[in-house]
Amino acid sequence: MDTSVTYRCLNCNGALVFDEDTQLLVCGFCQSKFTEKDLEDSEADKKADKIEEENAKFRAEILEYRCTSCGAEVIADKNTAASTCYFCHNPVVLVDKLSGEFKPSKIISFKFDKDEAKATFLRFAKKKWFVPKDYFSSDQIDKISGVYYPFWVTDADTDSEFSAIGKNVRTWRAGDYRYTETTTYDVYRRGDIHFEDITTSAISTEEKDMLEGILPYPIEDYQDFAMPYLQGYLAKKRDIDRDLLYDEVKGRMDSYAETLLKRTTNYNILTTRHLDVAIIKSHWEYSLMPVWILTYKKKHKHDSKKDKTYVYAMNGSTGKIYGELPVSAFKLTLASLGACLLAGLAAFLVGFIGFM
Ligand SMILES: [Zn+2]
Ligand SMILES: [Zn+2]
Repeated sequence: MDTSVTYRCLNCNGALVFDEDTQLLVCGFCQSKFTEKDLEDSEADKKADKIEEENAKFRAEILEYRCTSCGAEVIADKNTAASTCYFCHNPVVLVDKLSGEFKPSKIISFKFDKDEAKATFLRFAKKKWFVPKDYFSSDQIDKISGVYYPFWVTDADTDSEFSAIGKNVRTWRAGDYRYTETTTYDVYRRGDIHFEDITTSAISTEEKDMLEGILPYPIEDYQDFAMPYLQGYLAKKRDIDRDLLYDEVKGRMDSYAETLLKRTTNYNILTTRHLDVAIIKSHWEYSLMPVWILTYKKKHKHDSKKDKTYVYAMNGSTGKIYGELPVSAFKLTLASLGACLLAGLAAFLVGFIGFM
């Protein structure tokens, strides 16, 4: 085998490393194993070529835009016009050369349209009554965009191993004495743990919290990606590569595995000594998930530089909302005054809230 060549994984395109013990080539990323023959096979070449061809076709069908103000990068299909930023409402410019974007393999489509999204937002906002009146202005509510966000969805088979010190403590009293008996155990657990649909956003910015906040997506709604799904929507550009998410995803597997293995024991105190979650094989799918983004600009009375923009995200499949509602200082003052002066006058207070 020619060692000067870097062989690539047929499942994920990660770099392969030769393993002396098994005489197999192992993917450093997804842990798939291949024989030399697997890789020399012309079928393998064809498969790699086909993936490259599909990516090239995808790139040819989309345009990339960049916001002149906040720098947000989005892609859209050629027939979908993008003029202002979904995030900060400033103009966007077309980027000459698309960089690094490749075809998603899965997508969940939008389950409801803009009007229904608006109605859901309004129901949500009305429940929180410390919101400025102009929150409800149709102008603000119009600033709502359907944006597909990039996620990685990971399945993995692991061989998980855990050792710990377990302690059971028993106390009792006899006469004037109090006795404590501590029994210490060496605890060891090992098992095959399969993880399914670990969903991680491929975004490194402050939007990450927002995206994690609207999870989960119903995985049964997964479809193979096709261009028509993008029509009329923007898609946020992936700004973090799969390799950089590996530690985050592995960290989650470790913590789920530890919880699961701990649950098989029954001690008063359990202290982990060692945890090893070895990935046997894993599968990563680059996916687009539907998000309605609503932004609301709270204007400062005297200084427009102090205007504040609030952003909400709504899961485009389940309607789950994440975001911080703007608080009206005026209404808060009124409310606290109300609480002091009108304590006890419940009927009046109800009328007061209803009026707002
Ligand atoms: Zn791989
Ligand atoms: Zn922007």
